[in-house]
Amino acid sequence: MCGIVGYVGSKECTEVLLNSLSKLEYRGYDSAGIAVFENGEIKTRKAKGKIADLVNKMEKEGTLSGHCGIGHTRWATHGEPSDVNSHPHGNANVTIVHNGIIENYKKIKEFLVRKGYTFESETDTETVAKLLDCFYEGNPLQAIQRVIDEVEGSYALGIMFKDYPDRIYAVRKDSPLIVAVGEGESFIASDVPAILKYTKNYYLLDQDEIAILKPDGVEFYDDHGTRIKKQMHIADFDEEAAKKGNFPHYMIKEIHDQPSAVKTTITPRITNGMPDLTECGMTYDRLKSYENIFVVACGTAMHAGLVGKYVIEKTARIKVTVDVASEFRYRDPILSEKDLVILVSQSGETADTLEALRLAKRNGADTLSIVNVKGSSIARESDMVLYTHAGPEISVASTKAYMVQLSVFYLIAFALAYANEKITEDECRRLVAQLQEVPDQIEAIVAKPDDCQYVASKLVNTENLLYIGRGLDYALSMEGSLKLKEISYIHSESYAAGELKHGTISLVTEEMPVIAVATQRELFDKTISNVKEVKARGAYVVLVTHEGKDVDPDAADCVITVPSIDDLLMPMTAVVPLQLIAYYTSVLRGNDVDKPRNLAKSVTVE
Ligand code: GLU
Repeated sequence: MCGIVGYVGSKECTEVLLNSLSKLEYRGYDSAGIAVFENGEIKTRKAKGKIADLVNKMEKEGTLSGHCGIGHTRWATHGEPSDVNSHPHGNANVTIVHNGIIENYKKIKEFLVRKGYTFESETDTETVAKLLDCFYEGNPLQAIQRVIDEVEGSYALGIMFKDYPDRIYAVRKDSPLIVAVGEGESFIASDVPAILKYTKNYYLLDQDEIAILKPDGVEFYDDHGTRIKKQMHIADFDEEAAKKGNFPHYMIKEIHDQPSAVKTTITPRITNGMPDLTECGMTYDRLKSYENIFVVACGTAMHAGLVGKYVIEKTARIKVTVDVASEFRYRDPILSEKDLVILVSQSGETADTLEALRLAKRNGADTLSIVNVKGSSIARESDMVLYTHAGPEISVASTKAYMVQLSVFYLIAFALAYANEKITEDECRRLVAQLQEVPDQIEAIVAKPDDCQYVASKLVNTENLLYIGRGLDYALSMEGSLKLKEISYIHSESYAAGELKHGTISLVTEEMPVIAVATQRELFDKTISNVKEVKARGAYVVLVTHEGKDVDPDAADCVITVPSIDDLLMPMTAVVPLQLIAYYTSVLRGNDVDKPRNLAKSVTVE
């Protein structure tokens, strides 16, 4: 997490740094800070809180003026959010910003203390800054190389050396970093949206490559100090795509983006009405070769994987195991060359998912990633990648990224089912045609948010809530519940509807609303029985189901319907009211919807 930026050029760099940081605030907002060369000296300003707090502080303490600087927006891992723990860190000679975790920072600190260094902050980052100072003998490149030999963990670093007042040095390992170039100016940033106001041309730094940024260009070196050439990329979206437009929050804008995001993601992967994944080398023959499938991801992406499991198992009859990446890594999973491991990550930089990918590769499994950010580490390191074309997702609570991940899972499931002769060509075409109808259906749901707003007004003072569902509806309930709790701070849990009576129903009172999802025709009556059980115990019940269903008027207090489509595809439409309920509840509670407390997007630490 954490966002880092850097700038060298003719512009007033404080302005550029603050603007770029504001585009990365989704990565962390515990504190913000900048360091700028002012009259040959490195000057820093930093403050606990959001970028607006840093700006307020600079209005009081004075701003910084110069043409070369680095900046940081923090998601704290080592040391509480405070002014003193804010980045940049260092001294008058070397100052850095850091994204990642230095695992052996204690050992480095002890070494430096013995050398007479003192420390102000509790961060792991300060040890790297001081180690650079310790190793520096006039040649920054050599000092950086020595440091990367010593440090263990993950890092993206922006570095300023007092002796080089028109240069930024940058290096990364297991944390993302791009280097961008404009006319007479160069930038570093953790993510592409940070530089789009200035340029669309950027380079991706590989593991332990070092970049030197000067106003007239950038030089790249490998970890042996040899100069290298790198391929330039051009961003395929512009600044507008990363803006809120007329929407009050990114989250609601991104909910509205979903129909076009799904269309852009599925259309190039449908040929003559059939799923076509050959762009990444996934032929029908290859699809036929897998014995087991593992889906490994974190958070919302893992929930997309759960839907994927149901759909693949139901249509293709192949065993699918879904794992949280942080567990998969350490549970010594049984993998073979006949297995496919699917890694799902919006950013493509999720630390645990990246390590799970490396583990899968070491064990000989085939790896396929479903990733939104082009050129990200997971995309680059996996055997095959299917990009989701959602455009930038800024809101910390994921909506459109989940939706497009689902759409890719459907294509994979239908292709697998057809390749394994579990469905006929006609059936495959019918399912693909249904998938193509989903964008219009989402559009229709988003256009009428009234019922969801009404439910939000009923939930606004609730402190505990349950989501229930069966089968695909259960997988979906998990995502609905996560969405609500992460942005409204209401304690919420999801349960398999039939499981409730084995313990959790003891919590149900008039104080415990229940949101029941019942979109699966063959399970509808069973779920309604469970709805009646909670209703009989006083719960306020919201039922999400599809249009045309004959619902007993006493079954629920509020019924939200979505257009009808094949049961298999219902999660793609039924998730929309759950997203909207979470959004409006958070708004009514006066929360910072796009930047919920303690969270950050793109979790690049373990
Ligand atoms: N470990 C550093 C800190 O706590 C950076 C954190 C991060 O990148 O998330 O300040």
